[in-house]
Amino acid sequence: MYWANYHSHCRYCDGSHSPTAYIAAAIEQNVKAYGFSSHAPLPFASQWAMSFEDVLTYFKEIHLLKAKHATQLQVYTSFELDYISSNFVSPKQWAQAFKVDYLIGSVHFIDTFANGQYWEIDSTTQVFKHGLELIFKGNVREAIQRYYALTRAMVQQQVPDVVGHLDKVKIHNRNEFFFDEGETWYQQEVQKTLETIAKCGQIMEVNTRGLYKKQAKETYPSTWVLERAHELGLPIMLNSDAHHPSDITKEFGSTAKLLQDIGFKQLQVFWDGQWQGRSFDHTGIDIG
Ligand SMILES: [Zn+2]
Ligand SMILES: [Zn+2]
Repeated sequence: MYWANYHSHCRYCDGSHSPTAYIAAAIEQNVKAYGFSSHAPLPFASQWAMSFEDVLTYFKEIHLLKAKHATQLQVYTSFELDYISSNFVSPKQWAQAFKVDYLIGSVHFIDTFANGQYWEIDSTTQVFKHGLELIFKGNVREAIQRYYALTRAMVQQQVPDVVGHLDKVKIHNRNEFFFDEGETWYQQEVQKTLETIAKCGQIMEVNTRGLYKKQAKETYPSTWVLERAHELGLPIMLNSDAHHPSDITKEFGSTAKLLQDIGFKQLQVFWDGQWQGRSFDHTGIDIG
């Protein structure tokens, strides 16, 4: 049994090390398939996205690693693509022109402040509160509903292969300060979003970053959401959203156990250049 991780960041965006360092760490951590999914360039200044100028070098470097380590593990190229409201054409076609192996779609921004700056949901709690007050007049429910509406629009319009960290909007809600996941309106939004993903035939990732960074008590998405996803027969995969080489398989064993307990029998892997379901347990996935 081996692990696989398809959601990762390196020094081309906001990750800490060179791609080479991640591959060395992946091999050490019993990983047989590794995908680089740098934040795709954005049409405005950002602290964490890759710059347009670096894209060619990014692909060149990863393709070299692909060839160099072909006997040890499968290396893949990807982008984590943002979905942004209003007048922003998704760069999917542009990304595909580089022949990425797969795309992860994520929502990190909800609408804009009066000065046109986008409100980032997973920045500091202070920024989160600021956006809530200024853009949504403190109405948490409206803001969260907007987040899920944007997620559904992304699923339907951007059509990524993988839906990234579905409920990351809970990042500042560790002690339920902003909303209660048990409330009917919240559960309805999530359910509608899961149904949209199922209808569009995409894969939902189970992302362990919130757990090992202690930003959330559970994975993205929460256990109850995973139970709903299981009822809908949604295909899932396990990712760490690694930003450091030591993150690559963090919380994989415990999360795989949780997924088995919920009833999932397979995890999706990108293997030999295509998506496929493979059996798994707390020690790894049946690949390699
Ligand atoms: Zn993300
Ligand atoms: Zn990410």
